[in-house]
Amino acid sequence: MAIVSATEMINKAHEGHYAIPAFNTNNLEWTQCILKAVEETKTPVMIQTSEGAAKYMGGYKLVVDMVNDLIDSMGITVPVALHLDHGSYEGALKCIEVGYSSVMFDGSHFDIDENLKKSKEIIDLAHSKGVSVECEVGGIGGTEDGVTSSGELADPAECKAVADLGVDFLAAGIGNIHGKYPENWAGLNFDRLAEIKEATNNKPLVLHGGSGIPFEQTSKAITLGVSKININTELQLVFADATRKYIEAGKDLEGKGYDPRKLLKPGADAIVAKAVELCKAFGAAGKA
Ligand SMILES: [Zn+2]
Repeated sequence: MAIVSATEMINKAHEGHYAIPAFNTNNLEWTQCILKAVEETKTPVMIQTSEGAAKYMGGYKLVVDMVNDLIDSMGITVPVALHLDHGSYEGALKCIEVGYSSVMFDGSHFDIDENLKKSKEIIDLAHSKGVSVECEVGGIGGTEDGVTSSGELADPAECKAVADLGVDFLAAGIGNIHGKYPENWAGLNFDRLAEIKEATNNKPLVLHGGSGIPFEQTSKAITLGVSKININTELQLVFADATRKYIEAGKDLEGKGYDPRKLLKPGADAIVAKAVELCKAFGAAGKA
């Protein structure tokens, strides 16, 4: 099975009141671990890269080939969408061209008219090629690939304007932030989420910064229309933690413990375990 557009899996999740996990990948091992977890739990999945992560790995085309080749070599049977996370206008165009099956155009740093104009162009082009599209209204708090926004609540009227363009799913700030959540975080704003759901005529919504939001809040967000949850930091943290323990225990100094296939194994196992846990927590396990 080759990569598929995210439209169908997101719409099914929306109707079924669960959320598709959208895991950011960083390299070959990360991608293998995500695929292993979703196949094991029969979860439809979105694998996504930021522009920076794709560059780090060797470019968009390499990512497309890597994901398609792994789906083939690992015998993956669940639907897998390959998505560009926080794409620029140029990045989204490039990804549509080289074979991503889904793209996010993040025009949230433009004024709303410019955001609408560019979003519309990306949506029309993507849809002509069967590629699904996510757009963003307002900023998401924290820092994503060096771009920082101050943490906001999206304006429901602006959300409606983008939803009316025909976007497939919409990222809107509801108090969520990228990266680690601070001690004094106010939590998700469910009133605003309900207003956005109403204003957009029940468009599937995306929760960015899904790492570390308490489970009760994630669950409630799903019942209120969130159908895609982005996970990046959480997998990084468990990978780093397991790798640090391996080294602190001196395992890299025993035998051939320095072999990358051994050195990276505890971190990889930790990614699989965390991804499995999240697939179940979002209600998406068993839905493929
Ligand atoms: Zn994000």
